[in-house]
Amino acid sequence: MSSFQFTLLATDGGARRGELRTPHGVIQTPAFMPVGTRGAVKAITHRDLIDLDAQIILGNTYHLYLKPGDDLIARMGGLHAFIGWNRPILTDSGGYQVFSLASMRKIREDGAEFRSHLDGSLHLLTPEKATDIQARLGSDIAMVLDECVASTSEKEPVREAMLRSARWAARARARWCQLRDHGDPAVRVTNPGQAQFGIIQGGVHPDLRTESVQRTTEIGFEAYAIGGLSVGEPPEVTYEVVGHTAPQLPEDRPRYLMGAGMPDDLFECVARGIDMFDCVLPTRNARNGQLLTSTGPLVIKNARYAEDPLPPDPGCGCYTCRHFSRAYLRHLYIAGEMTGATLATIHNLYFYLDTMRRIREAIVFGSFERLRQEFHQTFSRRPQQ
Ligand SMILES: [Zn+2]
Repeated sequence: MSSFQFTLLATDGGARRGELRTPHGVIQTPAFMPVGTRGAVKAITHRDLIDLDAQIILGNTYHLYLKPGDDLIARMGGLHAFIGWNRPILTDSGGYQVFSLASMRKIREDGAEFRSHLDGSLHLLTPEKATDIQARLGSDIAMVLDECVASTSEKEPVREAMLRSARWAARARARWCQLRDHGDPAVRVTNPGQAQFGIIQGGVHPDLRTESVQRTTEIGFEAYAIGGLSVGEPPEVTYEVVGHTAPQLPEDRPRYLMGAGMPDDLFECVARGIDMFDCVLPTRNARNGQLLTSTGPLVIKNARYAEDPLPPDPGCGCYTCRHFSRAYLRHLYIAGEMTGATLATIHNLYFYLDTMRRIREAIVFGSFERLRQEFHQTFSRRPQQ
């Protein structure tokens, strides 16, 4: 009996309410995963995350592999023990950061060669190596290495990257099975119950997405993610690709949309059958002074908030909104006080996690469509003036 199990509890239109069992606890879906890049969600502590009831966080393999290194983390008992977080963790494969951060990258059939953005050292990330690194980290959910291409690319390079990603996925799965069944003295596995997700690629081309689904589900993973979206394409295009791809994925497995998105994206993609999300947006925007509220983004540095006694979002129940005014948060931001980033991050994550809670509740009561309409009526993507 695997320690990884997904149970579909209810559906409402295309929206799904589920429960995902992992070695470090149960995740209620649809779920949003805060990003803890280097073993920490920037600007806040794990205690804040527990208060916010974050069910799972994400760690970035690329960063942890370079610093402090997966071997060191394995010797410290794995990522959960090392960072002192005993709820579920998902790690990405490192591929996305190789494509977006590394100072040099060369894609070869065996893997991605790159230079570290920290010290220029040369590395080769293969599907097997990305699997080994994540086995040492001991996340509850590991991702396969895939090739990311710009969504604006011509179709042929997108097709080639999709096919290579499928070949890499087969190698990553073979390595994962080898570690599970026979072990390898060179790899200290710190979480024997780790699951591995495959990733669907194919850019904005429906036929390529369909082919990627066929090739990836044929290999067989605990679950599947949709990658290569939310990389600058218009939201309608994201929704179209998700709406085309998600229904083709196995119904009894969670579906994870990587890197999405704005609060309205959560609603639109849940409506199309997505169960899991991650995005740096709530945390990154918080540090840049942008608070995401039920009516839209609020740019806290604006002079109009200098003497505004209201909380960031009068309807919000978070620690920040219950105690502090826009005027104070603006002052902290302008003065460069770290507490400003902390309070903004707490609010933004609360907004995301609370939105997911309300979505989960609505699906159970069959009122998801009404909640979705209500949300769109008040929320606007444009910062408030
Ligand atoms: Zn708040």
